Amino acid sequence: MALIVQKYGGTSVGSPERIAAVAEKVMGYRQRGDDVVVVVSAMSGETDRLIKLAKAICTNPDPRELDVLLATGEQATIALLCMAMNDRGCPARSYTGQQVQILTDSAFNKARIQDIEGARVRKDLSEGKVVVVAGFQGVDELGNITTLGRGGSDTTAVALAAALKADECQIYTDVDGVYTTDPRVVPNARRLDRITFEEMLEMASQGSKVLQIRSVEFAGKYNVPLRVLHSFQEGAGTLITYEDESMENPLISGIAFNRDEAKITVLGVPDQPGVAARVLGPVADANIEVDMIVQNISPAGDTTDFTFTVHRNDYDKAMSIIQAVAKDLGAREVSGDNKIVKISLVGVGMRSHAGIASTMFKALANEGINIRMISTSEIKVSVVVDEKYLELGVRALHDVFQLDKAS
Ligand code: ADP
Ligand code: ASP
Ligand code: MG
Repeated sequence: MALIVQKYGGTSVGSPERIAAVAEKVMGYRQRGDDVVVVVSAMSGETDRLIKLAKAICTNPDPRELDVLLATGEQATIALLCMAMNDRGCPARSYTGQQVQILTDSAFNKARIQDIEGARVRKDLSEGKVVVVAGFQGVDELGNITTLGRGGSDTTAVALAAALKADECQIYTDVDGVYTTDPRVVPNARRLDRITFEEMLEMASQGSKVLQIRSVEFAGKYNVPLRVLHSFQEGAGTLITYEDESMENPLISGIAFNRDEAKITVLGVPDQPGVAARVLGPVADANIEVDMIVQNISPAGDTTDFTFTVHRNDYDKAMSIIQAVAKDLGAREVSGDNKIVKISLVGVGMRSHAGIASTMFKALANEGINIRMISTSEIKVSVVVDEKYLELGVRALHDVFQLDKAS
């Protein structure tokens, strides 16, 4: 008998019929003798609907109140799923994040899980019940409802699996595993049987939304066996695992992309010690995350240029901060572009191979795609290109590295 934590995403619980199908699937595991804890998302579209509703009331909803609102989406699904199971003769109980005591910090809208009090869940399991927990939400030490950021139900599931020492955490979704890239963009993308935590973390950080970044971090840290599977199709899915010697290390495991990018450039900043801190410090102070940074010296050597990227939602705010900073510093010009995207190649095999970046650049050049920024790490190469080239760029790279074929 195993203890399994299963998470069902928004589309998988998107209608009464699908909730009923999930109920029956969970009952199948119970009948085989497994203990099951289920984590569910809000029904598909519900979180977006609630955000829109809040924005119809005011442009900048109070973050605490927004979390109170967003948490209702998942609360509805847990109740509906338990009703479906109870109606079919399978005892099930629902819990909100607050009831299970998913303790988080107080960073509303992007809270981090700090601890889980699993006693209530364990007691129900020992009584033969299925436990259904609302994903994406927790409670801070003052009793405020918090949410974990978009896609956060993945993290609830992995954190619960770690706290309960579950045998496996299964993420059920609308694709049958992790692919070489988003199959919606590249139809001949290939499902991976396995991918390392390190690569999955990089794919998630570079924009692949199949798993929330924090869920992969948790799984790696607490050694939770993690699998991505299709909710309603049979198959082994993709196992996220440690690198081991039996695994072949393909050069490139996948291509991630991020549509939420924007870049800002400051030209002609007097080149003195401390200037980078003076340009970027105020951006960080405003809680805006900066991703890529490029600094370049001007030909004359007395001024320097900066370009950096931020999340598209932060573009206007970052731009007005930088305009004020540029004026203070006597910089020549500020410009920006919020119609850019980032495409990244990810693979642990890159460590031991030269030439990946140049093959990437050539493939993009062959399609007439101009590269605006480049950044590399041990296991990834990222480029920033104009938004209109996203699909073309990803497909060209998928082809040139032959990711549709198993290596
Ligand atoms: P859920 O609502 O179940 O959490 P998500 O929409 O968050 O589902 O994640 C699943 C989606 O992730 C897929 O429909 C797919 O379009 C997208 N996706 C992006 N990159 C990948 C990838 N490399 N492999 C598989 N799916 C991916
Ligand atoms: N419902 C939340 C969202 O749409 C959390 C999740 O689905 O994981 O982002
Ligand atoms: Mg998701």
